[in-house]
Amino acid sequence: MPFNTSPTQPEVLIVGAGPAGLAAAIASARKGLHVEVVDAMQPPIDKACGEGLLPDALCSLTNLGFNLNHDLRSIETHPLRGIRFLNEQTTTEASFPATLGRGIRRTVLHQLLLDRALSLGVRFHWQHSVQSIEPTTSGHLIRTNRQTLRTRYLIGADGHHSRIAAWSGLTASTTHSRRIGLRQHYTIAPWTNFVEVYWSNYGQAYVTPTSPHEVCVAFVSNQKTPSTEHALAQFPALQHQLTAATPSGSPRGSISLNRTLRRVTANNIALIGDASGSVDAITGSGLGLGFSQAAALAHALHTGNLASYQRAHSSIQRPARIMSRSLLLLDRFPHLRTLTLNTFERHPLLFEHLLHVHIGHRNCPFAVLTNRLQPDYTC
Ligand SMILES: Cc1cc2nc3c(=O)[nH]c(=O)nc-3n(C[C@H](O)[C@H](O)[C@H](O)COP(=O)(O)OP(=O)(O)OC[C@H]3O[C@@H](n4cnc5c(N)ncnc54)[C@H](O)[C@@H]3O)c2cc1C
Repeated sequence: MPFNTSPTQPEVLIVGAGPAGLAAAIASARKGLHVEVVDAMQPPIDKACGEGLLPDALCSLTNLGFNLNHDLRSIETHPLRGIRFLNEQTTTEASFPATLGRGIRRTVLHQLLLDRALSLGVRFHWQHSVQSIEPTTSGHLIRTNRQTLRTRYLIGADGHHSRIAAWSGLTASTTHSRRIGLRQHYTIAPWTNFVEVYWSNYGQAYVTPTSPHEVCVAFVSNQKTPSTEHALAQFPALQHQLTAATPSGSPRGSISLNRTLRRVTANNIALIGDASGSVDAITGSGLGLGFSQAAALAHALHTGNLASYQRAHSSIQRPARIMSRSLLLLDRFPHLRTLTLNTFERHPLLFEHLLHVHIGHRNCPFAVLTNRLQPDYTC
């Protein structure tokens, strides 16, 4: 079957219109680049997610040109004041330092990002599944199930199983952990403004209020879960909180990888978001990382220096990677978990300090060990 060729050739073609791809489109279009985006699905695209935006993620959205006071006014979200850990008899909590986080339904976030990209003139090709890529003298030829596109720069924002990464030889990676996530919404007025993380030997269940009448619960475990009822039964305190709640919509599953790629750029190809490596879902950092990477990538594309993105990507990813590994140690070793969370309960300022480090508000104590400085997330 002959392929149609796009009449115009974008400077930047992004494969994947998830949050990272959309953020990259927005950041690149703001730099004046001609951007097109291809996705196998069509909007609104949903995905299993905890649906929490930490303050650093909101800060990155501001840096992408969002006016959150205005943009969030007309959509349903819920303010997040901090994080609360609950483990057996222990409860410990810490507030965010200055700005609040936000709980936001994944589909609502998708529409927000999509509207912004469209307003900047980004062109979308929905239900276009990329089948192959080929280098050309001036860039790349991309074949989808529907047409052939040419571009100078190709961006792989196509998630964990990135075909762009595979085709461009960027798959060399270390996988530190692989867990299974399951998300379910419940209709109930949120009982707190904190993201609650319930711990058990089964894994974690974390609750994010996403509107005045709904919470999102994400279960993350090493075990495959037959149903949300089964998962909920592993967290009796949460089960009790949700006695009066009704599940809304269908559950959604996804894998959660803690994975580091050796390289995220090759020739005129760059990876972003989960395609470029990821941290465990428990960190609540995946979205914010994608947004920060988008700004760094757009700068690199604008200056024609993808090597700068490679460097920026490593330093953006590093703090979340350290936190991800630390939290997974608590998951793996129940005694260490009890000891650590008891210590946090007795010394709440310690927990608060670590939370502030996690969202980039303070320099990380491990920076001395790794001999590297933290990226500046401040707005
Ligand atoms: C259970 C769970 C809970 C989480 N909770 C949080 C949280 O609370 N906060 C947070 O910040 N992060 C959280 N995360 C992480 C976050 O969801 C991810 O980091 C984020 O979704 C990654 O976005 P992405 O755009 O990189 O990839 P994706 O959202 O996976 O998007 C990839 C896109 O690429 C498209 N695509 C793939 N292949 C092709 C192809 N060949 N051709 C065309 N299109 C293609 C897909 O259709 C898809 O739309 C959680 C993750 C899990 C699993």
